Amino acid sequence: MITAVKGMNDLFGKRARRWGRMEEDIKLLVGNANFTEFRTPIVEEIALFKRGVGETTDVVQKEMYDFLDKKGRHIAMRPEGTASVVRAFIEHGIAMNEPLPFKAFYIAPFFRYERPQKGRYRQFHQFGIEIFGDDSAQMDAEMIFTACRVLDHFKVNFEVHVNSIGCKECRPAYREKLVEYFSSKKEHLCDDCKTRINTNPLRLLDCKTCDPKSKYKDIPVMTDHLCSACDDHFKQLQKSLAIFHVPYIIDPFIVRGLDYYTRTAFEISANTGGSQNAVAGGGRYDNLVADIGGPDTPATGFAMGLERLFDLISEDFYSEPVLSAGYALCDEAVDDLVHFAKHMSHHPVRFFADYKPKKFKKALQKADKTGAEFMFIIGEDEVKEKKILMKNMKTGEQKVYGQHEVMLIVRDLLNHESGIVRPS
Ligand code: ATP
Ligand code: MG
Repeated sequence: MITAVKGMNDLFGKRARRWGRMEEDIKLLVGNANFTEFRTPIVEEIALFKRGVGETTDVVQKEMYDFLDKKGRHIAMRPEGTASVVRAFIEHGIAMNEPLPFKAFYIAPFFRYERPQKGRYRQFHQFGIEIFGDDSAQMDAEMIFTACRVLDHFKVNFEVHVNSIGCKECRPAYREKLVEYFSSKKEHLCDDCKTRINTNPLRLLDCKTCDPKSKYKDIPVMTDHLCSACDDHFKQLQKSLAIFHVPYIIDPFIVRGLDYYTRTAFEISANTGGSQNAVAGGGRYDNLVADIGGPDTPATGFAMGLERLFDLISEDFYSEPVLSAGYALCDEAVDDLVHFAKHMSHHPVRFFADYKPKKFKKALQKADKTGAEFMFIIGEDEVKEKKILMKNMKTGEQKVYGQHEVMLIVRDLLNHESGIVRPS
């Protein structure tokens, strides 16, 4: 038997309907703040991620899905969204052609070769936003607020951890301090961190393998070493977060896996106690556009894991719309049922018809199996009288309508959905 590729999932049925509604809600929420959708290809030249995400990051070193195409070009399935959006931002001259700040969002699949487990897949989905052309701390606060707005909408409990990881001016000196601090502790570090000391020492701070941050209490932190411009920016960020009513925790160990961040870095975790509880993360990346060859453009953004968000949304968050089914009890009734299905299709109700004539008992069984709450029946008598019978599957109550009274039927179905009971 051929099965799906390891770590990749199918989506269908009730879950697909809920997933679709989750995406629609997100689009509405960000649309209100003037974000427009940004779609980029699933694959890019691998060089983009090496430069954009960073050669020394786990995502590039260990988790990339890459291959050579028929002409020998080195291609990678995108592991994250920012590098691709930045590439497209430059390629289409958006900085020149669109008013800034330019606010984009995406909802899309991403690929990382990781060990599959709950909340961690090889194809997964992210919702993300990117804002170009604004270096203010207020915009960072709006960016973080946008993530919180979405989580609040879905009634998810979460914690926001913020940090500043400085800029080109102040980070190098801090980096030296870290290298100095950890060089005497090399024997207590994992193999990855022994290499990271030289390549990417900030990553030691969030290593989950040797976990230095819980072992040592005197690790130098970036927030004590910010230059005055970064310090002001970080203070303003906190002030603006308070105005947005975003509760936050200052966490000097948020460094983010990817190389491109400057100043603001943040992560949001769900209060579930589980291990895969990071739902969103992001920050400011003022140098990335220029690093990839574009005009100097400050930018800020985040990505949210949609599988993780989906798992956090309570089962009863979306009420299922009422389902009804139509059946013909004899050959002569089929045309009437087709007519009825056509008219029902114009209305916002969930209805399906089963055109194969069947006995009443069989129709009842089928309707029951599909979970229909109402069943419509057209038999010999109904054909003669141009009537249709509606049966409430739960109460057994029956009601007869004229076949042309679709508006009345729809009103009754919608009233049932909203819990209004009208006397008939
Ligand atoms: P983690 O620490 O859990 O590996 P990350 O720092 O690698 O997360 P980011 O690159 O910040 O993740 O991606 C943003 C969000 O995307 C994460 O917070 C998470 O919700 C989600 N995510 C990342 N990797 C996966 C994956 N393999 N499967 C499902 N969701 C993922
Ligand atoms: Mg990861």
